[in-house]
Amino acid sequence: MKNFDEIKLAKELIRFPTIMTEDRGIMKFLSKKLSSMGFKCKIIKSKGLNSKPALNLFAKFGNSRPHISFLGHTDVVLNLENWSFSPFKSVIKKGYLYGRGAQDMKGGIACWISAVRKFIKSDNFKGSISIIIAADEETTGYGTPTVINYLRKRKEKIDFIIVGEPSSNKKIGDEIRIGRRGSMNAILTVIGKSGHTAFHGSYINPCTTLARIIAKLKNTRLDSGTKYMPPSHLEISKMNVDNLSENVVPQSAEAYFNVRFNLKHKSSSLKKKLNRIISTVVKKDKCKFKIDYRVSGEAFYTKPNKEIYMVKKVIKKITNTSAKLNCRGGTSDSRFLGSIPRLELGLRNNTIHMVDERTSVSDMKKLSKIYYSILDNYFA
Ligand SMILES: [Zn+2]
Repeated sequence: MKNFDEIKLAKELIRFPTIMTEDRGIMKFLSKKLSSMGFKCKIIKSKGLNSKPALNLFAKFGNSRPHISFLGHTDVVLNLENWSFSPFKSVIKKGYLYGRGAQDMKGGIACWISAVRKFIKSDNFKGSISIIIAADEETTGYGTPTVINYLRKRKEKIDFIIVGEPSSNKKIGDEIRIGRRGSMNAILTVIGKSGHTAFHGSYINPCTTLARIIAKLKNTRLDSGTKYMPPSHLEISKMNVDNLSENVVPQSAEAYFNVRFNLKHKSSSLKKKLNRIISTVVKKDKCKFKIDYRVSGEAFYTKPNKEIYMVKKVIKKITNTSAKLNCRGGTSDSRFLGSIPRLELGLRNNTIHMVDERTSVSDMKKLSKIYYSILDNYFA
């Protein structure tokens, strides 16, 4: 059994144009690789973006506890124009591997598989290693919960998960995510009474009320943050008044906003808090309002435990970097993992979702070494 080189494997993975939950044969390819290493593989279908289902993968080596798993995704984002090299060609130039998904996160998957391959060849460990790969992290996000549901039904117990999202900032291993903030979107519509702008007193202008609400929301301090999470933050992303006439006061005005919130809130309590602020202003102005919330994920975090400190130590040993524990960034599929202890550690994120996404080859070698050493310590 020869070792998989992480660079070669990453190049192969990048060549599958896995956009918009399309599979293009990548899960079969991965299953074949992992089966040859002794993994049992199961392809699990979830709802795809078009008529075809999305294909996700659960692969496991061994049957006993402890059970460490890796969570990744093979789908990649669009933004495929104006590249120096074709985004699915996998070109290496001056020490960098170029390709859509190089950092986010086919590169990380390749590092994990390569590390696992080396580890199971060299060590007679007791326990199991698995890998969960979703096909739709960048879009719908049905894959990971579908796999987790499947595992729950089979009473499969996972003790620790490494989420391979690109968590590193300036250099490999400088940041480890131990949680994420929650995220909630809202569309707020304020309904007034339309009328002629010249007849003050006959209309109720929803624009004025909306402006007052926004000022109030922006001036409200939601909390002062937690040890690992910054204060919760509300940001307006769009304002819209559908009005074609200059002398007509419109009937309604809309604002879209997003809130990133820390562990001091649940989306349900936050909604109540925001609704109270909004309704106070609206009542005063004799308007009405309607609000639609969409919760992308609640805030979560793993209290630093012995595995997290072990990973920190491993990083220090291999890269001489003291990893910061934090909860930065947007949401990730880690939000679907319930109470399973976990952390996110992967390549750098300086070119993710950009034109000319690339990873340094030496970063990949380092990450592979880190993953290997994590396995070595985990089963020691
Ligand atoms: Zn990602």
